Order: sequence, then structure tokens, then C-alpha cells
Amino acid sequence: MRYISTRGGIVPISFKDAVMMGLASDGGLLLPQSYPVITRDHLNAWRSLSYPDLAFEVISRYVDDIPAADLKNIISRSYATFTHDEVTPLVKKDGVYILELFHGVTLAFKDVALQFLGNLFEYILAERHQTLNIIGATSGDTGSAAIHGVRGKQGISIFILHPHGKTSEVQALQMTSVTDANVHNIAVRGTFDDCQDMVKELFGDLEFKQKYALGAVNSINWARVLAQVVYYFYAWLRVTEETDAPVSFSVPTGNFGDIFAGYVAKRMGLPIDTLLLATNENNILTRFINEADYSLGEVVATVSPSMDIQIASNFERYLFHLFAGSPVRVTDAFAELKEHGRITCTPDEMEQVRKDFCSASVDQKATLQTICDFYGDSGYLLDPHTAVGVRAALDLLPTDSAKICLATAHPAKFGETVEQALGAPVPVPESVRELYGKPTRCDVMDADISAVREFIAAHIG
Ligand SMILES: *Cc1c(COP(=O)(O)O)cnc(C)c1O
Repeated sequence: MRYISTRGGIVPISFKDAVMMGLASDGGLLLPQSYPVITRDHLNAWRSLSYPDLAFEVISRYVDDIPAADLKNIISRSYATFTHDEVTPLVKKDGVYILELFHGVTLAFKDVALQFLGNLFEYILAERHQTLNIIGATSGDTGSAAIHGVRGKQGISIFILHPHGKTSEVQALQMTSVTDANVHNIAVRGTFDDCQDMVKELFGDLEFKQKYALGAVNSINWARVLAQVVYYFYAWLRVTEETDAPVSFSVPTGNFGDIFAGYVAKRMGLPIDTLLLATNENNILTRFINEADYSLGEVVATVSPSMDIQIASNFERYLFHLFAGSPVRVTDAFAELKEHGRITCTPDEMEQVRKDFCSASVDQKATLQTICDFYGDSGYLLDPHTAVGVRAALDLLPTDSAKICLATAHPAKFGETVEQALGAPVPVPESVRELYGKPTRCDVMDADISAVREFIAAHIG
């Protein structure tokens, strides 16, 4: 399997090179040249597999440059860190199936991909006698999952910038309580945008970037999408053990990574009836699907902060397929976006979009109400991101379908919001309680690029 860029500017590369490249060197995103086909026979044979064994079946079809035994080992170590023995269990509550993706160390679905990516990085770097210095900005979830994905790993250092005092308390502690020597937390006196701007500036400084072997862990790495494809298969296999109804997935969406993994599973042949893309008030993708309106707005801060995004980075991967694999068309679309703040599609393309997805936007009032009602009806607590997907599924998916809602975070991770919705305290799991006693390490700095640059240079060693 070789990987190509959505912008058409690279010769096809291997899986390991795709992992190390992250963003394609021509500014596009990497995709496999084709999708392996999965048949009913495969699916039947996979019913009895454990999560790691299923992950190996799915992932190995995209990887031909890592020996099977090594890949198995990477996968099994990645999922051994999950606290549930099914890794991503499916539970039925009040007529919907909740796919719990939050049993990893940082209680959000990003652990599923970043535990795997951390182990892959370590393996490839050791083989190539290279080192990597990861630099990233986070508003909370990605940074903590990335830190836990690479803590203590050989050949890797990580520097994560977060806005001081502006993440949830649990998110901050999940980052600063990791005191391994290769982990550096920088709390910036400023906003998430200040953090993001400084990271962009460091990557734009090519001399600095090369000298210090800088790398990123944002959601554009193909290996992250690939790891997420697995749980669509896992959930489908579980739900079809008890029903013949058509299977649909509802996906709370920000950067389009999670739902793109569902799209990939469907292209591979997994019989998915509907992929429902759920957004909060930052609803550019919903406007696109329902009204052919892909025009940029302002980012609105909501109670589901990990979905407060206007430009969804993985959307380019879908556009490449929508435009029948034309890099010229993709490049033109992003030129139009830059110049006019929108992307326009033909009526035929929009018809295809509506075959691929349906969509709903759920506002904050409805999100809080859903947390409250769902708890009242089933006794089950939804986090605010999951609640967006559940509300959309209840409103839009046919009553006779098996509705699988992706639970992207544990309710305790956004405990303040859940308490606000319920008007009652939320139980705190052991792993969160433990955070409060731990020693922490974090450097608080002004939003000053030269200070950040000096700090990084001094700590890379
Ligand atoms: C990142 C995140 C999302 C959005 O996922 P995308 O892959 O960016 O669409 C949803 N919920 C939670 C809790 C997240 O951390």
C-alpha cells in the first residue's frame, strides 16, 4: 500500500514514510492509493476477535512495511493501556447504542489514535536512528492525549502549549501531572489562538524546524484516522449480534477526523446505512451538507469545546474523493476558500454529499437538555460532545435503525457542564481523583515567541 497527497505533489510513499511525514510536503493530506475490500465472509470470520486482534486485521491491510509480529506488538501495547477489557464497549441505553470511546488514560476518544501513534513513532525512530521533537498547541483534549501517547518514549520529546487557566481543571492536570523528562508543558498567558500562532511561527521557521527535527501530532496524521476505523468495525460486529436493523452512526464532529474514519470503513465495505455528522453552533459542515453552503464564520465558544472549529482539517480528505481524486480541483477549492471564504460544489457533487452523510446542528440549550433528559430516562450520563451526537441521532435517524452514537469523552472530563445540566454533582472516577494529589510540572510564560523558542532550544538538549 502506497500513500498519495490530495494536492498531487508527491511521489507515492510507504506507510512508515506517511506516518513520519504527517502533513504531505506539498501542503496536502495523505491518503492510501486504494481501499482494501472487506467482504461478508471477512466480517463473519472477525466476529470472535478481541479488539486488538480486530485492529490488527484492519490496520495490517494498510501497512506492508512493518513485519506482522511487530505490528501486532505495537497494537497490543497501545490498547493494553485501556481500562475496559473490550477497549471500546458498546452499551444500549434508552433505544440507542452508546459506543464508549473514553476508556483510555485521558478519558477521550483521542487516546485510541494517539496511544497507537506514540508507539509507531517510537518504533520507526528506533529503526531509523532518528529523534523527533513534537510541538503542538492545545485547547485541552489533543495535548493531553498526545502527552500520554509519548511519555517516557525513546527518541521523542514533546512540547505542548496550552492557554494558562483556560482549559478545564481536569484537562490541565492530565497534562501537567506527567513529569517524565521528555514531556514539557508550557502554559501561555494568553489564548489558544496565541498558542496556535506561536506553533505555526516555529514550524514556519525552516532553519529552526530542520535543526530541531520538529514534528506535529495534530489530527492530520493518517495513522490516527486508521486507528479510528477499527471501532466502526468493532461496533458493527457487536450490534449485528442482536439486530438485523440497518446500522447508522452518529458522530460529534470538529476536525472531521472521526467521521472520516467512518467514511473509510464504509468505503471498505462495512454495511453502514447512514453516517450522521453532528455539530454544535460551529456548524459550517452541517450548512454544507444541508444547504451547499461552505462559508467561513467566526468560531463560537460552546459547552462542547473540542468541536469549536471552523476549518476542519480532515475535510480535505473527503473533498479529494468527492472531486473524483482530482488534485487540481482540491487545490482550486482551497484557493477559492482563501480568496472568497467559501468552497462551491456542483449540484451533482452535492447529491453525492447527501448520499454520504446527513447532518444536524445542535445548540447549547438542546445539548444541556439532552444530558438532563437522557439521564432522567436511562440513568446514564452523557458528556456534552456525546450529547450533541445523541440529540442529532434521536431527531434524524429512522426509528427502525440501530443507532450507534459515538461517546467521545467521559462525562467527568467536562464535569462542570454536566453538573450545570443536571443541577447535581457528577461522580468523579478514581483516575480523576488521583490527579489531584500528583506532583505537577509546567512552565508559565508570556505569549512571547522568542522566549518560547529559547525554552525549546534549551530543553531539546
Ligand atoms: C476531538 C474531539 C471531538 C471532535 O472529533 P474530530 O475528529 O475532530 O471531528 C469530539 N469530541 C471530543 C470529546 C473530542 O475530544
